[in-house]
Amino acid sequence: MNYDVIIIGAGPGGIFSAYELLEKAPGLSIAVFESGHPLAKRRCPIDGEKIKSCINCKTCSIMSGFGGAGAFSDGKYNITNDFGGTLYEYIGKEKSLELMRYVDEINLKHDGEGTKLYSTAGSRFKRECIQHDLHLLDASVRHLGTDINYVVLQNLYEKLKDRVDFFFDTPVETVRILPEGYEVVSEGGVFSCRYCIVSVGRSGSKWMEQVCKDLSIPTKSNRVDIGVRVELPAEVFSHLTDELYESKIVYRTEKYGDLVRTFCMNPKGAVVNENTNGIITVNGHSYEDPEKQTNNTNFALLVAKHFSEPFKDSNGYGESIARLSNMLGGGVIVQRFGDLIRGRRSTPSRIEEAFVTPTLRATPGDLSLVLPKRILDGIIEMIYALDKIAPGTANDDTLLYGVEVKFYNMEVAVNEHLESCYPGLYIIGDGSGITHSLSHASASGVHVARRIAELA
Ligand SMILES: Cc1cc2nc3c(=O)[nH]c(=O)nc-3n(C[C@H](O)[C@H](O)[C@H](O)COP(=O)(O)OP(=O)(O)OC[C@H]3O[C@@H](n4cnc5c(N)ncnc54)[C@H](O)[C@@H]3O)c2cc1C
Repeated sequence: MNYDVIIIGAGPGGIFSAYELLEKAPGLSIAVFESGHPLAKRRCPIDGEKIKSCINCKTCSIMSGFGGAGAFSDGKYNITNDFGGTLYEYIGKEKSLELMRYVDEINLKHDGEGTKLYSTAGSRFKRECIQHDLHLLDASVRHLGTDINYVVLQNLYEKLKDRVDFFFDTPVETVRILPEGYEVVSEGGVFSCRYCIVSVGRSGSKWMEQVCKDLSIPTKSNRVDIGVRVELPAEVFSHLTDELYESKIVYRTEKYGDLVRTFCMNPKGAVVNENTNGIITVNGHSYEDPEKQTNNTNFALLVAKHFSEPFKDSNGYGESIARLSNMLGGGVIVQRFGDLIRGRRSTPSRIEEAFVTPTLRATPGDLSLVLPKRILDGIIEMIYALDKIAPGTANDDTLLYGVEVKFYNMEVAVNEHLESCYPGLYIIGDGSGITHSLSHASASGVHVARRIAELA
């Protein structure tokens, strides 16, 4: 065997697997294969001047490379079983929380110390939300911020780099089963290992699907979340964000009984483009450093779509809607709430005259031509509901960017050790369809590393 353990993917799942293996089984030889660049070389070419929109790089520096999809994220580590994944269904609620707290400790040790931990425990907003049929989910949130998150990742890399072989810019093509272990086939050669941890995240979703097909690993389809990113003056939500930072609020629409939820709240943040398999969608982040903060807060409003037989391709459905916005707007579309409810498109002059200045250069347009009616109706209903706890949310100048899509990988069949039907082949993080967050993905990495350390 070339290595005891090969990890595919250097996102939080892969990084925390490697970290914990070095802690618990320092004698093991470990390699990490990553299709993207090392952290220091990750740079999105969009500069707003020469390059204004996505040029579809061979590997997307936002989604791939050391740190994975989370490297330039807001670094919000939610310590909760209420959202962010269903890891607890496999390993138990207590264990899952314990691992998320452990990940938090490691982040603090690597220069995350001093960042704030927010909590919904005992918050007066819970009551206020319920009074308006809104439901605030329970969580503790460690907010590292984009800048500190980057420093923590850099420090983790420094710790790992001399004891782990990193193969950057080396996508793994396939995984083969050996009589005693696995063979990892990449552009850089073929390498064998006793244990293989697959942590390819969302950007590796198509690859993961193929591997499961080739190896006959059972999977089941997951959901897709579709919606918009809302941007408004930071003051509108400051009473909530100052106390909770991120509030995950769920609302059941009167019209259809659908659940709409807030997601990824970024106080004083910026709206950004996201590229998934060449499709441009919208996301957001914010910084701890006051100098980099903006006057706006942004968050997503998402509606979850599950499909029943015979349709299975929930991600394909989400992609088609995102493609439609790309077709009409050449990328992300922005619309004032006032224009949306009056049934007219936003124009560059209407956006310019608005009191909210957009933080993302997007094409003014009409989201009602893109989003299905049922989803749009749900979003509008929720904006009016939020207006009751945060007056100003339903203002005409509130900006809506679309579309925001949260793709979920299909769920791969694994046991309580996150091990597939092949002993020693573990599937973790967002690539497994089980996690959808930094904390859950990282915790899944720690979980398998401890298991391998026990067995090795
Ligand atoms: C803009 C943005 C902001 C976000 N903000 C937050 C947040 O604040 N809080 C939060 O909880 N979550 C956030 N998320 C989600 C979070 O980043 C992910 O849940 C998390 O990164 C998942 O970790 P992972 O290790 O499973 O996968 P990833 O981080 O996606 O890492 C997978 C890695 O595998 C590599 N890879 C894929 N295929 C192959 C292959 N065939 N061979 C080799 N390597 C491969 C990829 O290049 C990638 O680097 C955000 C995501 C984005 C895009």
